[in-house]
Amino acid sequence: MSLYHSTRSRALACSSKDAIRTGIAPDGGLFVSDALGSEKYDVSALATKDYAEIARDVLGMLLPDYTPEEIAACVEEAYSGTFESSEVTPLVSLSDASDDAPGTYVLELFHGPTSAFKDVALQMLPRLMARTGTADSAQKIMIVTATSGDTGKAALAGFADAPGCGITVFYPEGKVSRVQQLQMTTQAGKNVAVCAVRGNFDDAQSAVKRIFADQELADRLSARDVVLSSANSINVGRLVPQVVYYFAAYAQLLRRGDIQPGDAVEFCVPTGNFGDVLAGYYAKLLGLPVARLLVASDKNNVLYDFLTTGVYDRNRPFFTTTSPSMDILISSNLERMLYFLSEGDCELVASLMAELAESGRYEISPELLGRIQETFGCGWADEDEVAQAIADCWGAHEYVMDPHTACGYHVLEQTTAAPEAKARVLLSTASPYKFPRAVAQALGLDVPRDDFACMDVLANATNTVPPAQLARLSDAPILHDSVVDIDRMAAFVERAAKKL
Ligand SMILES: *Cc1c(COP(=O)(O)O)cnc(C)c1O
Repeated sequence: MSLYHSTRSRALACSSKDAIRTGIAPDGGLFVSDALGSEKYDVSALATKDYAEIARDVLGMLLPDYTPEEIAACVEEAYSGTFESSEVTPLVSLSDASDDAPGTYVLELFHGPTSAFKDVALQMLPRLMARTGTADSAQKIMIVTATSGDTGKAALAGFADAPGCGITVFYPEGKVSRVQQLQMTTQAGKNVAVCAVRGNFDDAQSAVKRIFADQELADRLSARDVVLSSANSINVGRLVPQVVYYFAAYAQLLRRGDIQPGDAVEFCVPTGNFGDVLAGYYAKLLGLPVARLLVASDKNNVLYDFLTTGVYDRNRPFFTTTSPSMDILISSNLERMLYFLSEGDCELVASLMAELAESGRYEISPELLGRIQETFGCGWADEDEVAQAIADCWGAHEYVMDPHTACGYHVLEQTTAAPEAKARVLLSTASPYKFPRAVAQALGLDVPRDDFACMDVLANATNTVPPAQLARLSDAPILHDSVVDIDRMAAFVERAAKKL
């Protein structure tokens, strides 16, 4: 049985169920499995497989201690009737291949219940988590999550009223869009708590990491039979479902006849915490022919600097942009990429992460950087470029995209295709209707004061329809209005846990 262990030490090995149940390793590292890549996926059979079948295959390979029946039940519960499209993540063609350029496609990941790509993983995680306990255990899991905007709602939708679980979500006050905020503050459910934090996302995420490391808090909660866990993309159970749609994209390209089995595909991924793009790297290790992974950032371009210079430095101004879910200066999942590309050098990873915690900066060797650059390209877009990309894409293809996806579109336009790529796929991470103001503005439309009026303007101008669950928000009752300082977050969690 292949085991998971921390990126920072092999000493503590555990099953994938334990890794999912605990979220983060006890030493602060992220769970990884050295078996990743030893078994390859047979891509020649992909064309005939639907999303659920691919999901069962991929999850079975990455979570070997779940039984096939458990995996099948999780997949069925997560993806039957929850997504608007039967493909779950449909692929849309922007431009056909020509003699000198591969075709360009958008992989729409936002057709789930909260209109963000995080639904793909967060519809699955509660189902995986529900199967990690022993049958006679009375222990309850309290999910604690910091969100830059989209994780919070997707996690709330996944965990609301989930048996044996509670969920607490923190978001940075004033730093998420109005639609995002309403999505969270109107969330119903007996086991949910939502709270704004005075600080930015990185402050909130760091505080959540401290809450997980707080042994006294853990002891007090344990006395009430409650254990804390994470729904952030550091959780293996968040990451693994994201690997599936890279294969699903490939299957759709095969079915369209636009590629042949074995052809390489380039993916461009709007990136924040590095979870989505890391899942693409996992797909590559599992045998998917990935030409290159383009890491697209917004103005918070710490990853662009790292991938071009080898210096990771979070000591820089933080920008609040129209792509809030990418406004991140500490990309947690980068740690897993460093682990795999350093060939499992736990000591190196531990020392880099200690430097990051102490000084906010670390530097990798030119050899390691070179190895990373063989797989990962990068680019970034400032605010004007994001708006221009939205307008350009609409002008060229009559396709409306949200500001996060537009960062990726800009990067795709700025870089020449990887030489071996037979198709280029841009991952679209949110519905444009989650950010109606920014999108309407970019398209040069009238921008009414109210976000919901912006949705109507956008719908009329582009002949598209807002997702019903977003349009409904304008008259949903507000159920959560707490705001706390960073140092009061732990107390808020403890209060919420008492209600479980
Ligand atoms: C979370 C999010 C991202 C960034 O994804 P990571 O996995 O954190 O890199 C990009 N776009 C949207 C809309 C998101 O919600």
